[in-house]
Amino acid sequence: MNQVQKDSVGNNIGAFGWIDRIRDLGGLFFIDLRDRTGILQLVIDPQKIPEAKNLGLQDCIYAAGLVRERPEGQKNAKMATGDIELEVESLEVLNKSKVPPFVVENDVKANEELRLRYRYLDLRRAPMQKSIIFRHCVITAMREYLNKNDFIEIETPILTRSMPEGARDYLVPSRLYPKKFYALAQSPQMYKQLLMVAGFERYYQIARCMRDEDPRHDKQPEHTQIDIEMSFVDEDDVFKIAEGMFTHILKAALNQELNTPFLRLTYKQAIERYGTDKPDLRFEMEIIDLKEIFKEKEFPPFKDKQEIRGLVIKDGGAISRKKLETLNEQAKELGLAGIFWCKKDEKFSGSIAKLMDEDIAAELKLEKGDLLIISSGDNKIFSFLGSLRNDIATELKLHKQGFKFLWVYDFPLFEFDEETETYAPCHHIFSQPKEEDIKYLDSDPLRVRGRLYDLVCNGNELASGSIRNHNRALQEKLFAIVNMDKNKYTMLLDALEYGAPPHGGIAPGIDRIIMVLAGLNSIRDVIAFPKTTTAQGLLEKIPDFVTPEQLKELHIKFE
Ligand code: ASP
Repeated sequence: MNQVQKDSVGNNIGAFGWIDRIRDLGGLFFIDLRDRTGILQLVIDPQKIPEAKNLGLQDCIYAAGLVRERPEGQKNAKMATGDIELEVESLEVLNKSKVPPFVVENDVKANEELRLRYRYLDLRRAPMQKSIIFRHCVITAMREYLNKNDFIEIETPILTRSMPEGARDYLVPSRLYPKKFYALAQSPQMYKQLLMVAGFERYYQIARCMRDEDPRHDKQPEHTQIDIEMSFVDEDDVFKIAEGMFTHILKAALNQELNTPFLRLTYKQAIERYGTDKPDLRFEMEIIDLKEIFKEKEFPPFKDKQEIRGLVIKDGGAISRKKLETLNEQAKELGLAGIFWCKKDEKFSGSIAKLMDEDIAAELKLEKGDLLIISSGDNKIFSFLGSLRNDIATELKLHKQGFKFLWVYDFPLFEFDEETETYAPCHHIFSQPKEEDIKYLDSDPLRVRGRLYDLVCNGNELASGSIRNHNRALQEKLFAIVNMDKNKYTMLLDALEYGAPPHGGIAPGIDRIIMVLAGLNSIRDVIAFPKTTTAQGLLEKIPDFVTPEQLKELHIKFE
């Protein structure tokens, strides 16, 4: 509709769309006709067009007539077509709509279940149309940038072998080969590595990844990523491509500039300064190490503690006592000594006021009106202070506008899974250990850092990647450390023996990127047909039973 503008006044046009709103004003009908570009106001005289009386919301119609300027006083500066209207001369109802189960309006009141059940109606709403179209613009920009930089787009199989990369596989039973299964690809990881072995050198793909994970609020059983792999590269080369791509996306989709190179923090720095590997840098407030200052003080909760760390909260003096007490309880539940605090006004007040003096305040840049919160204990202190930092920033509205990108790198290659008492890869098992840490692989795997990196923006992990192993023996050793059956991965292991080039890559997650760039809170609002947080499709009514005949064909019997 938005292509109809003031210069169309006096023209006869026709418009297809859906009825968004009907008003009957003094015998004339004013109808908002909607398509994906916007709204056009129709004016219909039911004396001339009697069928207009039967029109209903969400009917699909064709209206033809004369574009005219709206009378003064009736113009709407907020609408792209607010200066004009269509005086309808003929009307065709292409298809009536039943009364929709919820009102299709920008500020939808319906709950999400209903919206997902009737997704095709929900998708008619302007905010949904906007985010789906925005998604298209971002993906277009990704392709543009990578094509310009000599990448080629190659599709890889969705139906593949069960080769878990970190999650459970979705399995697909074979009809032709009884008892055998395919699996849905968790990502194109192994295929993209094979493409490097095959000499394609710079590959990308808009890839769907299927992972049978336990429900989590922003996880989907299938998600989309822009999967990238490059040969003969190190971390800097991958960072440069990703930075260039995001700069291009922000320019193309939001007309915003980004400064590159992005800030880089090692995993250790990120944890120590922000208490998380996904720091939100839209506000400052770093975690500070207070051990030197307070370890000598006669204060039992600090005595012999591995860590004494805290936050200076600028203008945090108004944070309530009740909140501080809740925080104290939370810290204790984690096994920390609790929280201790001090407000600076004319004097110091709070539970550690007596430990403070003006010199310490000056060193910590604690000024009038500020609040210092300290905790002590083991290394759980970092995640505690990290989430406190985010929480306070939200409460005090500290987030600055814009997108704060950074790289976090040098992650540990492995983590220890307390439940299974085994080592597990921090990212995935195909990542290379740092050369200087290879010597700890046998003796102390947790000490080994990997050539791993994440791209983080505004507290969200937008991409993960790594430099991969291109040496079979090393890859086999890593499988052994995490107790993975190397025989499942022979397709990759064999290929590594035929002149596999050094290679690495990254896979930015498209759903999350769109959500962050569009400033939305739910990943489901940027996916046309998402699943619920409990992995159900409410529109498709899935998962569902299948017929006995289908099961028989697949040689499946239930007890
Ligand atoms: N395949 C990885 C993933 O899906 C990304 C990568 O390492 O490129 O998380």
